Amino acid sequence: MTMLEIIEKKKLGRELNREELRFFADAAAKHSAPDYQLAALLMAIRLNGMTDQETADLTLAMRDSGDTADLSSIPGIKVDKHSTGGVGDTTTLVLAPLVAACGAPVAKMSGRGLGHTGGTLDKLESIPGLTVSLSEQDFLQQVREIGVAVVGQTGELAPADKTLYALRDVISAVDSIPLIVSSILSKKLASGSDAIVLDVKTGSGALMQSLEDSIRLARLMVSVGTLAKKPTAALITGMDQPLGTHVGNALEVKEAIDILSGRAGGDLKEVSLSLGSQMLTLAGKAKTTEEGRRLLENALESGAGLEKLKQMIRAQGGDPAVCDDVSLLPQAPVKKTVLCGVSGYVRAMDTTALGTAAQRMGAGRLRKEDSVDYSVGYVLKVRIGDQVTPETPLAELHAKTEADAEEAERAVRAAVAWSGEPCPRAKLFHALINADGMTLA
Ligand code: URA
Ligand code: CA
Repeated sequence: MTMLEIIEKKKLGRELNREELRFFADAAAKHSAPDYQLAALLMAIRLNGMTDQETADLTLAMRDSGDTADLSSIPGIKVDKHSTGGVGDTTTLVLAPLVAACGAPVAKMSGRGLGHTGGTLDKLESIPGLTVSLSEQDFLQQVREIGVAVVGQTGELAPADKTLYALRDVISAVDSIPLIVSSILSKKLASGSDAIVLDVKTGSGALMQSLEDSIRLARLMVSVGTLAKKPTAALITGMDQPLGTHVGNALEVKEAIDILSGRAGGDLKEVSLSLGSQMLTLAGKAKTTEEGRRLLENALESGAGLEKLKQMIRAQGGDPAVCDDVSLLPQAPVKKTVLCGVSGYVRAMDTTALGTAAQRMGAGRLRKEDSVDYSVGYVLKVRIGDQVTPETPLAELHAKTEADAEEAERAVRAAVAWSGEPCPRAKLFHALINADGMTLA
């Protein structure tokens, strides 16, 4: 078997078999084929698609291309959660402590920011002292002792994806449903959990901007997860505007603490509770998602969720005092509130542009080697559907310099579309997809 034969077959639109897909995943993991052949096959897949069987075979081959985490020393059903990526999307920091406080172990490996979307590891590292680099032993021990850990990958999980994702990024082949499914699920399956809850984003800040594509992506992820014997549920949620009001690393940690302290609500809280209740159900801690939601609300109101976050921060070397005093988080030197300057209604937002604006302020990386400025970002003061006057605050900018604040102000203004007529609010929940099928919200 050669890469050239496999490329030829997919170029002609034929179905690849399991052995061919294993050969491809191994070549990517071991760099035993040149990048131009791997890239050629990726583009042939992007253009000609893959069947569900091919997608499942590629996912399992990529899962098997490196280490797999063994969580069996942690008692109970381990449920993982994954978001396809968004802006102001910090559900992990809200739900991981809440779900753990309800008795379900959360052994989570998270990622860094990618493109216009933020990453949980960067957010967590904005907490003074906190480390996300734990050995496999320490990671497992922490979950056994306090029920929750959120860390970077231990070991080399799905190295085939590392090679293939980097190539897709530079050949315009990220937007392929079978390639997204195999990329995300190979890593999730290698990270050792018993069940998976997916948050598939749809809208202007999402990987898949149309609902139709988001449903196809979610259905395929659920069917491949189920095929791999991991019960999988997917919620399709709106990314027509940032999920939370805070965008930027320390700012998003602050919003998560505000929610866990009962001071803040809104869409971030709602999506966190919905994903968390799916997790509790799959973990066998709740019979129904309604019961799961009640348990999570109790953990929120009693302060048990906030206490769990403190325990996790302390265990990972961070300063838990940030939970009682959010001003201990990194603070940007320039803070500036900008006003809407118009009368009317918020019609729409270009959420990708809003994510890019935070990235350019320093909250994300423009180049791989860039470091992240934890303090910068902004708090958005309006939601789609809001009525505003010229004096209504639009955003509170947290910038490194005056010049950065001015650039961010221009970017945020350009990303918001107005209307003179009342506009509907953005839909938050679109659908639930699991082994029983699809329920539209
Ligand atoms: N996130 C991933 O990990 N992989 C993709 O292909 C897209 C988003
Ligand atoms: Ca291992």
